Amino acid sequence: MNRYWANYHSHNYYCDGVESPEAQVQAAVQQGVSTFGFSSHCPLPFLNGWSMKQDRLNEYLSETGALKEKYKGTIELYVGMEVDYIPGVCGPADFADQLDYTIGSIHYLGTNWNGDPWEIDGATEGFMKGLVEVHGGGIEEVLRQYYAHFRQMVQQDPPDVVGHLDKIKIHNIQGSLYDEESDWYKAEIDQTLDAIAEAGCTVEVNTRGVYKKKLDMYPSLSILKKMRLRDIPIMINSDSHAPGEITLAFADTAEQLRQIGYETVRVLLQNEWKDVPFDKDGLSLDK
Ligand SMILES: [Zn+2]
Ligand SMILES: [Zn+2]
Repeated sequence: MNRYWANYHSHNYYCDGVESPEAQVQAAVQQGVSTFGFSSHCPLPFLNGWSMKQDRLNEYLSETGALKEKYKGTIELYVGMEVDYIPGVCGPADFADQLDYTIGSIHYLGTNWNGDPWEIDGATEGFMKGLVEVHGGGIEEVLRQYYAHFRQMVQQDPPDVVGHLDKIKIHNIQGSLYDEESDWYKAEIDQTLDAIAEAGCTVEVNTRGVYKKKLDMYPSLSILKKMRLRDIPIMINSDSHAPGEITLAFADTAEQLRQIGYETVRVLLQNEWKDVPFDKDGLSLDK
């Protein structure tokens, strides 16, 4: 049996990734990937430093669509987007019709000290300024809102894939802001995972924190264990922003997922979602 990898979370120069979609495809092939998805950040109705610009959307769709044909027989390609969920502003349903799949992510939560969308996915400095000036340092309230947003997303506008579920932990340096083992936090997680299981979404296991920040994967292993008990499907994604990052930390992550009892990952094959066996050497795909 031949072994391959899959990755459906990748950025290129249409958003804040480096190099072209085709450079990503060539690197994916070299790294043993046989099914691969493009997922640039969706355009947003306000300026930021990392999203695709609205006027590039058609070009993104046509360029990545053409690559599907060009590489037929070499690698399966899928055109997706990482869509921001911002209630009343933007969500997966705004783009799903044009795509093979959507990743729904939360990068913004409410408004910041200027009344602009509060970016919680960027530098810790901006996160802390919002936490202190807008929320009076109330991290518990902020985290409750954060997970309530995930629940609202999967209930009202479910993506195919839930993106980096607990990524807000990038600011919780050495547990300085909150304890993942506290009862209220675990209760928020339980409630959120129940909603995800009910909605039938896949949750990605995102390795970017492992190779960029020497953090745990997103979500943490303790959350993944709870997901396993609910039979929530997973996929392993790298959230790559450069061709060299497409399969980083996959082997170790796969090994840890096997140890907690996961035996399959969800992939797109011949345009259908399928659950395939995996281990640290890759996925067992029928070829
Ligand atoms: Zn993201
Ligand atoms: Zn991403």
